[in-house]
Parts: sequence; C-alpha cells; structure tokens
Amino acid sequence: MRNFLSFGHDARRIAEADSVAVIGLGRFGTSLALELMASGTEVLGIDGDEDVVQSLNGELTQVVRADSTKLEVLRQLAVDEFDRVVVAIGSDITASILTASLLLQLEVPVIWAKALDERHGAVLEQLGVHRVIYPEKDMGRRVAHLVRGAAADYLEIDKGFAVVKTIAPRALHGVTLAEAGVRAEHGITVAAHRSEAGSWANAAPETVLQAGDTVLIVGPIEKVERFAQLR
Ligand code: ATP
Repeated sequence: MRNFLSFGHDARRIAEADSVAVIGLGRFGTSLALELMASGTEVLGIDGDEDVVQSLNGELTQVVRADSTKLEVLRQLAVDEFDRVVVAIGSDITASILTASLLLQLEVPVIWAKALDERHGAVLEQLGVHRVIYPEKDMGRRVAHLVRGAAADYLEIDKGFAVVKTIAPRALHGVTLAEAGVRAEHGITVAAHRSEAGSWANAAPETVLQAGDTVLIVGPIEKVERFAQLR
C-alpha cells in the first residue's frame, strides 16, 4: 500500500470525475463503496485500519489508510475537492463528529453521515451535515414491515408513503388496470409489473396482469400493506 501522502494527486484526479469519498470502511462503508463502484462511480476509500485498507486494495479506485480526524490529512487527500463525501464511521462517535466537522470546515458541498442513534444524529444535524442516515434503524423498520406483512419487498419513501413488491392479487388477473380501477378501489398505483419468466416493465392503464405476476405498487403505507395481503 502506498503512503497516503502520495495520494493527493490521484485523489485530485478522482475528485474531478463523478466520484465520492467514503470515510470509514466498516460493513456499511464497504458495502456502499462497492455498490458505488459497481454502478460506475469512482470512489476514494479512507480508513484508519491497515487490514481494512489491504482487503479493499484494487476494489476501489483508490483506498488509503489515514486518520480522518486530522484536517491536514483530509487536505492532503484532496477530500475538500470532492462534491460528495460520506462519513461511514459509526461506533467511534467522536471520530465521526470530528470528521464531519472538518468536512464542514473544508466546505465540502454535500456531506452524508451515518448515525448510530438519534443522539448521534442530532449532533451531526446541529453541526450542519446535509444528509444524516440511520442504516440500522431504517433496516429494522423495513424488516418489521416485511416480517408482519405479505410484501416481498418494502421501501418507505417518505413518512407514510411506501413502495412495495408483491404478487398480483386474483382481482387483477385478466383485466386491464384501468378496468380493475386499482386506484379508486385500493388507493394505490401499480407502477411496474413482471411476469414469472419475464423482466420488469412500466405499468400502463391498458396493462393486463396474469396469475403469478409480480407488481410494484406505490401509495400510503396502510393501503399498500392492505393491498399486499390480498390473494
Ligand atoms: P459497520 O457497522 O459499518 O461495520 P461501525 O458502525 O461499527 O461500522 P466503526 O467500527 O466505528 O463503525 O467504523 C467503521 C470503520 O471506520 C472502521 O473500519 C474504522 O477503522 C474506521 N474508522 C474509525 N475511525 C476512523 C478515523 N478516525 N479515521 C479513519 N477511519 C476510521
């Protein structure tokens, strides 16, 4: 692994591309960084642990061992030239808060930070972090809906509003969505559909669903959950 001091030039080049710096490469940061890479975004990964850095060498555009709580280090790595930086440090709350405050001082335009709990999140928000995320809490809530309902997948888009993947109920088989009057009848919108063998397609008023089809529905939480329970 190269010393982080030699990374300034490379990091500056990455910063010019459509790129993100991810600080803290634990399970969450690593998964985020690898997904960004898979979708074509260049990633500068930073972690203080040599083993973590070694294990991701070659998987990210650049990965470097450094302590993100030092202003000079962030400057040398050209982190201030990135438009988007994610602080994915969780359990070391002091390191998370110090890093976020330095990024704000460096005027990074969009800072995302992971919070372990509400108190951690409140401090990050008070500091001025633009997007505070709660992966554990959000995943817990999401799984609760999956465990208690019949949905195959569930995503809360905003308070009270969700997208759900479920099997098309019998009432929708063999008629167009317009004829079935899904919106008037159930208060939800069918956004997309997939046959058992096929791929996803956008739904239209003239779409006819068959037994075994999967649908992606959008609407208020209680309505999408009720619809997902129909057989
Ligand atoms: P996860 O749940 O994603 O595995 P976590 O919430 O337990 O992570 P931490 O273990 O605190 O979070 O941090 C994740 C990573 O951040 C670790 O790999 C750790 O080495 C790194 N890290 C912590 N502090 C610093 C720091 N000051 N500078 C750089 N990296 C750091």
